[in-house]
Parts: sequence; structure tokens; C-alpha cells
Amino acid sequence: MTAATVPTSTTFDLGPARALSCRECGNETPLAAEYACVECFGPLEVAYDFGKITREDIEAGPRSIWRYRGLLPVPSDVDSHPNTQPGGTRLVEADRLAKALGLRKVWVKDDTGNPTHSFKDRVVGVALAAARELGFTVLACPSTGNLANAVAAAAARAGWRSVVLVPSSLERAKILMTAVYDGALIAVDGNYDDVNRLAQELAAEHEDWAFVNVNVRPYYAEGSKTLGYEVAEQLGWRLPDQIVVPIASGSQLTKVDKAFREFGQLGLVEEKPYRVFGAQATGCSPVSAAFKAGHDVVSPVRPDTIARSLAIGAPADGPYVLDAVRRTGGAIEDVTDEEVVEGIKLLARTEGIFAETAGGVTVATAKKLIATGQIDPDAETVLLITGDGLKTLDALGDTVGPRATVPPSAEAVLNALR
Ligand SMILES: *Cc1c(COP(=O)(O)O)cnc(C)c1O
Ligand SMILES: [Zn+2]
Repeated sequence: MTAATVPTSTTFDLGPARALSCRECGNETPLAAEYACVECFGPLEVAYDFGKITREDIEAGPRSIWRYRGLLPVPSDVDSHPNTQPGGTRLVEADRLAKALGLRKVWVKDDTGNPTHSFKDRVVGVALAAARELGFTVLACPSTGNLANAVAAAAARAGWRSVVLVPSSLERAKILMTAVYDGALIAVDGNYDDVNRLAQELAAEHEDWAFVNVNVRPYYAEGSKTLGYEVAEQLGWRLPDQIVVPIASGSQLTKVDKAFREFGQLGLVEEKPYRVFGAQATGCSPVSAAFKAGHDVVSPVRPDTIARSLAIGAPADGPYVLDAVRRTGGAIEDVTDEEVVEGIKLLARTEGIFAETAGGVTVATAKKLIATGQIDPDAETVLLITGDGLKTLDALGDTVGPRATVPPSAEAVLNALR
């Protein structure tokens, strides 16, 4: 089960990262391209020795995820290597959306503004930086789409080869937005879980391929912390009361929670209770189902939803999502594909932000959590909008379009507006 052991030296400069530690048994192993514990096969996670980090240090950094390099498993000169400079996206005060939802205060974290228009640029940025230090030369991934875009672009910018595996049914936009960077894009006849299995097999055979979400997953996953850090910094160095996070593998949700805890422990924000909520599409809702059933484990499902970027039927971080959500007093809900489209349209018409289907899942789930009394309408709420609507245009079908088609006359236009 362990990844190909590439270099075994312990002299890697991965900033504050100290070791890899097992999330199940706590066993520690030196920093390397490993992802499963040799004792119990549990997933490995980066463990740190943080130095003293102040708000001023962070504020003096670049307007990208690299301002948080002192909290990530990357070399301190990370930004001097060619990279796509992800992060630094806007946090929008969404008063009109708040009103429509019946909430007192809402912020939208608009991660459509990343280099390849989804939050995946964050995780790929960290994976590439760590992979370079670990001695890899090829960047690879299995992907539901957004990761493919981010890996192909980051590899192009860095002058690396890329190998990207996607299900052949992927949206056309996501295929084109990957292929244009001219890495090796392979469409596989199968769903994401098939593609993921294939990647595990290839990662074991090709020692020089860094599969960002397989053999360098512990490093990759840490990139999601930057979403949490940015939200807290942009709120004026404080934590929100509630945050709604979409779930695919579940990594992002657990790392946003980790980011909030780290900021508290490091004294960068005041520690306070906050609640983490998870959002899924009903057509692929294994974590939501487990939450509602009171289970600690997640039973795999076969995905069938327009929210393809979240369509992971066997989510690797499922149990850890359940832990984080239960520990913080949050909840997990799921919404139908019709509700997803309504969510996309609601965000667009109230805030002028066009999200992909995953964003529709977040907005629609927030709405459902409010309706069912699980979100407190008086508490400050952040919604994570993780991808751009241009990636999933087909999801809108003919639910939007011109109000009328008229001859070129002013009268006809005014008639149509009446
Ligand atoms: C990958 C992805 C997510 C969730 O990622 P996980 O960390 O796997 O849960 C959310 N939104 C979008 C748009 C994504 O592409
Ligand atoms: Zn273990």
C-alpha cells in the first residue's frame, strides 16, 4: 500500500514540516513521498514544528498562498520557483444573498478567482513545491476535472511534464481547459473511483511521478488550509461563527477546520467556538448519509449528479469529516440537482458571482440548513465558493437565456421589457 519510496534522505527543506504522522495510530515517519502508515495503513498527515509567526510576518508576504509558507510543508524560497501563485482571492460581503437567505451576515469566499478558476490551484501549488523538494520531475493526478486543470497549468508554468487521468464523461470545458496546457491528458472509460484506482497502481510503478492526490497527498492536502487562513485574515484576524464547505474527498473541510485551530493555537486569532457544515449533492452524498445515520464510517456510493467536481463515491477523508463536523457542532446536508441549479442562479443574481455546480451545492445546502434550523440565522456565516461557472455551463441547460428575441426596433425591445 505504501507509495514508491523515492528519495529517503531526511534532509528535505519543507519549511516547518517535521515528519509525517499517522492519523489513526500516531506513528511518525520521516518526510518522504509516503501516504500510508507502515504500522496500520492509516493515512499520513504532515506534522509541524511551527516557529514564532506573527500577523505582521504574514501581512508582509505576497498576496498569494505563499504568505502562509511558514505554516505549509514547502521550502522557504518557494515563491522564487515558477508557480501559478494561487490564492489571495476575495472575501465578498454578501448582503443581498444574506437577505435572500434570511441570514444576518454572510461572506462569500470567491475562489473562482484562482489561476485555473477553482480552489484546486491552492493544493496543487503546495503539492508541486513539496514534490520538487522530494526529487520528483513529473506531476500527475486522477481528477474529476478541476484538479486536472490545475495540475496541467502548474506543470506548464514550472516546465514539468504532466500526466492527467480523467473520466471520459468529463465536461467538455474541463477537458479543453486541461488539454490546452499540452501535458499528457488521458481520458479513461470509467468513473472517478475507477480512475483513482488506476492512479494508485501507476503511482506504485512510476517512482518519478508525483500523483498530487495519491503519493504526495499529505502535502497536497495541506494546501486547503490556506482557504481557512485567508478567510480568518480577511475577516480582520478572527474566525467566523459558521462556515459551509463542499465535500468531495472531504479533505478541504478537514483542513479548513485545521487552519482555524492552528490560527487559534498560534495566537493569530482569538480562539472561539465555530461550526463547520458540509455540503453534498444528493446524487453523491455518502458523507451526508453517514452523518444523518449517526455512522462513523462512510459507505461508498455510485455517483450520479451534475456536481461532477464533487462526485467522489468513496471519499478518503469521510470519517475525518464526520469527526470535524460533530466536534464543532455543525451538520451535513445534501441537495438535489435542481436545487444546485437554483443555488447557482441565486448567487449570480444576488451577488454577481457565477459559480460552478459545487458552488450551487454550497449555496443550496446553506439554504436547506437554514430552513431546517441547523444554521443559526443570527451567526456570521462564510460560504466557500470553490469553482467558476464557466466550467460547468451545461449544468444550466435552458434554465437561463434571453427573455425574448426581437427585431432590431426600440419598440420591440420596450415591448419585451413590459
Ligand atoms: C475538489 C473540489 C472540492 C472539494 O475537494 P475535497 O477536498 O476533495 O473535498 C470542492 N469544490 C471544487 C470546485 C472542487 O474542485
Ligand atoms: Zn498508523
